[in-house]
Amino acid sequence: MAKYELPKLNYGYDALEPYIDAKTMEIHYSKHHQAYVDKLNAALEKYPDLQSIPVEDLLKNLETLKVEDADRTAIRSHGGGHANHSLFWKLMDPANQKDEALVADITSTFGSVDDFKKQFTDIATKQFGSGWAWLARDEQGKLHMHGLPNQDSPYLHGHTPVIGLDVWEHAYYLKYQNRRPEYIENWWKILKLI
Ligand code: MN
Repeated sequence: MAKYELPKLNYGYDALEPYIDAKTMEIHYSKHHQAYVDKLNAALEKYPDLQSIPVEDLLKNLETLKVEDADRTAIRSHGGGHANHSLFWKLMDPANQKDEALVADITSTFGSVDDFKKQFTDIATKQFGSGWAWLARDEQGKLHMHGLPNQDSPYLHGHTPVIGLDVWEHAYYLKYQNRRPEYIENWWKILKLI
């Protein structure tokens, strides 16, 4: 029985046009994200006790889960993929409003929203190969930026993700091909939170 499920997308595949095209959204959500969910469920088949744990908690406690090493790796990859994409769809919701508290926090931490965007863009642009750029809160609530490879989640490091940008080629290649910087530049136009 499948335990984890694809979260509902609160907007249409074409809602982020022209910055993210409908075909990319459809494949990204219904194929890539679905595959992470399916593979996470497959990895947890042997561990019924773990299937009711929120995926974020699986990632936070990954090192102490009583699972075989191969399954730990699968939970890291596919659980990470599930958690990361679930946040990503919410971040891009066109109905989002500016989060004034987050803007204030970013401004006091990084100088200004523009300074933050510049540094975050740099991390996203330079992330080698597949991965994400992250803004996350540490255990003290302080904001940090970092790039992480593959589907590694900030939860693995005890951080709580706030903003994540998917720079896997599957996130942009259909429309932008190798032009990752153009995808990133346009992504800021989608993000309404800051
Ligand atoms: Mn992705």
